[in-house]
Amino acid sequence: MSDIEKFVSGFKRFQGNYFGEDRNLYEQLKHGQHPRALVLACCDSRVDPAILTGSEPGDIFVVRNVANLVPPREYGGGYHGVSAALEFAVCHLGVEHIIVLGHSQCGGIRALMQEAGECEGSEYIAKWMRIAEPVREKVRRELPGESLDRQSHACEQGAILQSLENLLTFPWIAQRASTGDISIHGWYFDLAHGELLGYDPTDKVFAPLKEGEAFADSLPKAPATTPA
Ligand SMILES: [Zn+2]
Repeated sequence: MSDIEKFVSGFKRFQGNYFGEDRNLYEQLKHGQHPRALVLACCDSRVDPAILTGSEPGDIFVVRNVANLVPPREYGGGYHGVSAALEFAVCHLGVEHIIVLGHSQCGGIRALMQEAGECEGSEYIAKWMRIAEPVREKVRRELPGESLDRQSHACEQGAILQSLENLLTFPWIAQRASTGDISIHGWYFDLAHGELLGYDPTDKVFAPLKEGEAFADSLPKAPATTPA
């Protein structure tokens, strides 16, 4: 079976599941979407947030880009696709959670640590990855001489925290985070070990998420402030 046939067959199964005898879900969804969470994840084919979280259609609003980075708020020209999606989810859909979902073995982060690697001569990727350059420099300072694997792992998790900070540069997110109307989470999928970790701001570590604790906020409990 070719790849395309596989996708068409997959849609047929989806159609049978949601538009067969039981079509209640899409009867509701055709009138509008009300997702409670926005998930910002990497484009990587191994880390689909809907599959990882067992979500149904309508459950999560998903933004995906190379290395799951949130850019800081910027003015002026350019096409701010991520910022526009954040604005729509927060200001118009009223999501209650924002989850930045990073992962192990991230090609974008590895390229950043190598400063070129797979992205050498790229038209867009290297510039995009500059968002996480401060993280790379911090990793190099704190883990000098470590293997590329170890440094990339630290950079993958550090970049999630950088993205959480960048979320707060958008005033409509910072304001909602400060009042508790929105919770912000930093999650990390270890695809080599099949584990999902969440950032604990008290112990400052990524630790395995447990059911019932999974909605713990990854921001410190102090009032949120907008970074200078
Ligand atoms: Zn990735």
